Amino acid sequence: MTKPVFRFAPSPNGRLHLGHAYSALLNDALARRYDGRFLLRIEDIDITRCRPEYERAIVEDLEWLGLDWEKPVRRQSEHFADYHAAFQNLKGRGLVYPCFCSRKEIADNVRFLETHYMESNESWRIDPDGAHLYPGTCKSLLPRDAELRIEAGEPHTWRIDMQAVQKLLPGPHRFTRFTLDGEEQIVEADPWRWGDAVILRKDVPTSYHLSVVVDDALQGVTHVVRGQDLEAATDLHVLLQKLLGLPTPLYHHHGLILDPGGDKLAKSRKSEALHELRERGITAAEVRQRLGFQPTPST
Ligand code: GLU
Repeated sequence: MTKPVFRFAPSPNGRLHLGHAYSALLNDALARRYDGRFLLRIEDIDITRCRPEYERAIVEDLEWLGLDWEKPVRRQSEHFADYHAAFQNLKGRGLVYPCFCSRKEIADNVRFLETHYMESNESWRIDPDGAHLYPGTCKSLLPRDAELRIEAGEPHTWRIDMQAVQKLLPGPHRFTRFTLDGEEQIVEADPWRWGDAVILRKDVPTSYHLSVVVDDALQGVTHVVRGQDLEAATDLHVLLQKLLGLPTPLYHHHGLILDPGGDKLAKSRKSEALHELRERGITAAEVRQRLGFQPTPST
């Protein structure tokens, strides 16, 4: 029987905090419990925000926590060709279209539609990330016009055409969720709530959603364990897996570690980083115990 494969997949755009430590320790603990493999994947597609020094710091923090992972580590910025191949697959089947809209244009279009076409008590739907569902403005461009704009170097994203996808794969789309007690439950995904999501960004030739499903498949990940903040993204990932003929792993979305004020820990909110705890004299064993794990990794 093949071994279960777990992964921790941080983005090197800041220092790790307790929330990351929990996720990494949980993946490691489950890999040990099920005699599985534990991988580290560096999700550095965001070339403006990710930095090599943060990647080095991630390795230092994880080693300090007593974690060990298989080498070599997969670094997403070295695999754009893989994401491009997946994108070409979708493009070749007419399931994506180029979009030249800026955020402001989308907001303006949505406001226009709300004002002129919707009842006063209705508002335009938003996706799970809080962004307006794309109103489909660029979908009606003539293919030749879109091509000319691309050739002229106009910045653009590529969006998934959910209407076309829904015809091809109406669903229901299901995946298996597992609990830490080992129970499994089949749940229904609702990918449509993402609308025509961006599959290729303007600044980089991929997106979080595309890279993560390609990598999980290429690395043979069988169990995705990540925070509840990414739970809604799973619905879209399950759909992309089906479209690309990739296996769907089992999923567990763990609770988030909150700061004393009850907010989610975040690099952007300057939550205390692991290295700051370390500098205050807190030991790795204490961090592990505080998060509910054994003080040292079991063998
Ligand atoms: N890179 C993502 C993050 O740092 C995690 C992606 C995932 O686990 O699927 O939030």
